[in-house]
Amino acid sequence: MKEKRIAIIGAGIGGMTAAVTLAQKDIQVSVFEQAPELSEVGAGITITPNATKGLIHLGLDQEMKKVGMAHTKQGVRHFKTGDMIVPLERGEKMLEKYGAYQFQAHRADVHNVLIDKFKLNHADSIYVDHQLTDLKEKADTVELIFSNGQMHEFDFVIGADGNRSAVRKIIIGDDDPKFAGYVAWRGLVPTKDLSKTDFDECGSSAFIAPGRVFARYLVRNSELYNYVAFLATDQWAEEGWSIPSEVDIVLDIFSDYNQQVKNIISATPPEELFKWGIFTREPVSKWSSDKVTLLGDAAHPIEPFMGQGASLAIEDGVVLGRIIETASSTKEIISRYESSRIERAHFVTEHSKKAGQRFTGSDPDKYSKEDHKNEEELGLFHYDPGSVIV
Ligand SMILES: Cc1cc2nc3c(=O)[nH]c(=O)nc-3n(C[C@H](O)[C@H](O)[C@H](O)COP(=O)(O)OP(=O)(O)OC[C@H]3O[C@@H](n4cnc5c(N)ncnc54)[C@H](O)[C@@H]3O)c2cc1C
Repeated sequence: MKEKRIAIIGAGIGGMTAAVTLAQKDIQVSVFEQAPELSEVGAGITITPNATKGLIHLGLDQEMKKVGMAHTKQGVRHFKTGDMIVPLERGEKMLEKYGAYQFQAHRADVHNVLIDKFKLNHADSIYVDHQLTDLKEKADTVELIFSNGQMHEFDFVIGADGNRSAVRKIIIGDDDPKFAGYVAWRGLVPTKDLSKTDFDECGSSAFIAPGRVFARYLVRNSELYNYVAFLATDQWAEEGWSIPSEVDIVLDIFSDYNQQVKNIISATPPEELFKWGIFTREPVSKWSSDKVTLLGDAAHPIEPFMGQGASLAIEDGVVLGRIIETASSTKEIISRYESSRIERAHFVTEHSKKAGQRFTGSDPDKYSKEDHKNEEELGLFHYDPGSVIV
């Protein structure tokens, strides 16, 4: 399929990973993004070794070392006392054991690593201000229709347009994503505004309490603390995706947490605090039509309790790119891609949901290492999208 023209809808982390993979294999690829400019939300991201290996396959090892922090210690901790419940070794241990680091970074920095790589030789192949509104599969091509009135034809199309995917709606036609029962606040806090006691040796910690989780880690050479504060609730009345919120609301919900957490929340600049409803869908056994497939959140939206959503999107992008390079028909692309990826995506989705239930549904005084079936213990880090047989 090397001579075919491929379109990617959505220039998020998943779409851009697929774009870089295809470009690297000299496949003609165009990316269409609805936003007027390429950008990511102001928040942190964990890239676990399975995804780092995908980025290494794309030659982005050094770039990731520049933008990412490989904290040596991570852990699950008691919300009130801050005591360590489940200590986890990261840093060099990850490199030794899995051949790649676990990085924590600002999302925009990871996104820019991918965009810069793609733009190096393909700057003319990214089209912003192009919101896909419809697509029509013809005998040999797919016609794409955008809200700006433009139409384009391609041989194969990848829907990387996120949780509320328009491509998915057209080719699968299932319902809108459902509220998963969690609200998440995401904050970015300049560390210069904090005092010494607001830091400790654990670079990345999740403090668990009944009905809540507060996860925080340092990014950008420790210039910023990124946090995500989760509340289990059946209330989500707001339409929208990322909504500005207020520090006092988060402080109130986490008022019984330890002082370090409260200090971090209090120091959040108002313009750096956003609220998210977590939305997911039931897993489906098909992600494709004849000449169109999905990746990332469009294919398998996930609860974020194992930090695997973007990592899975990176895996999808690399695997799909490798398959497109070697397949001889669109039918073969789809069958190899779905058999390579669906089972793994469903496994991670199911366990991310369970992780959320465990974190928020447990008494932290009784939570133990045995309860904690995390992404490493499930074996997820062994996967290498650049070399797995596809
Ligand atoms: C609170 C929270 C914390 C998280 N933390 C982590 C973490 O630490 N690690 C991790 O791996 N994952 C994490 N995730 C999950 C991760 O954010 C997502 O799984 C990941 O961003 C999915 O990437 P994507 O490229 O599939 O979709 P997106 O990032 O949503 O990108 C989709 C792109 O498509 C564009 N688009 C949408 N519709 C159209 C259209 N009709 N036409 C054209 N373009 C369109 C959008 O503008 C966007 O640019 C977290 C999620 C949440 C909510």
